[in-house]
Amino acid sequence: MEVSETIESVRNMVRAAGRQGRKIGLVPTMGALHVGHISLIEAAVKDCDFVVVSIFVNPTQFGPDEDLDNYPRPFEADLEICRKAGVDVVFAPAPQQMYPAENLSWVTVEKLTEPLCGRGRPVHFRGVTTVCTKLFNIVAPDVAYFGQKDAQQAIVVRRMVADLNMSLEIVVCPTVRESNGLAVSSRNQYLSEQQKQDATNIYKSLQTCRRMIDAGVSESRQIIAEMRKMLQQVPSIEIEYVSIVDAETLESVDKIAGTVLVAVAVKIGSARLIDNILVDAGT
Ligand code: AMP
Repeated sequence: MEVSETIESVRNMVRAAGRQGRKIGLVPTMGALHVGHISLIEAAVKDCDFVVVSIFVNPTQFGPDEDLDNYPRPFEADLEICRKAGVDVVFAPAPQQMYPAENLSWVTVEKLTEPLCGRGRPVHFRGVTTVCTKLFNIVAPDVAYFGQKDAQQAIVVRRMVADLNMSLEIVVCPTVRESNGLAVSSRNQYLSEQQKQDATNIYKSLQTCRRMIDAGVSESRQIIAEMRKMLQQVPSIEIEYVSIVDAETLESVDKIAGTVLVAVAVKIGSARLIDNILVDAGT
């Protein structure tokens, strides 16, 4: 496995692989790799002939009061995980490599970035779409892999790729969870054992929602009230949002029909945690 810190060297490696007719897969990450990331890497290794994992804690997707400085960076352990998983190249640029000068060019996706996480994190998606565009331009992958865990991000990136005629396929892989339902996240490291236990209520609230929809309840307001009640049973949970939205437009749904995205964001201690499920309510 090669480790590249420069745009030039990763480009050269990918171009050489491309000339041999190899299908290029990219897994963009911020490192602190866990089983969720590994599931994306495994999908890429299975589908592609040459896999690049990028490890870059992208400063432009963090707000001023967020955890950029404290974000975990266990680089050697990440390399070991990539090596074991059969990755061809880890692209790990320094911030200076990706943003050598004041960044004046941004990619923004409208509307889809306004609700849910966009409300509390106003610059986040602009940073995500800009860095993904940079990574897509640098690596020129045939396929890029994202996780359903960050559902809004996947929807926004997919839309950007379609709207801007970018020449790659976006694959979204299912959310990997702990056995107690907690979605695996690099930010779970910020939680104490008690807080981890508290955080299992997030997935429990999503399951409550699924059960209510399956039982025929169609008023979002009623379901959201029940989910909030469940989350509020745990005093350490501070709710940012509990939303039921159309799975494509991300617009709020009052009367549930078709496929909806049920999404939750909370804070527990210093950790901001998100989770979601897709529910098909039929027509
Ligand atoms: P991050 O390093 O948090 O930016 O995540 C990199 C990619 O891994 C994103 O596409 C995430 O959606 C995905 N990811 C993170 N956690 C999980 C998980 N528990 N299951 C599946 N994908 C995940």
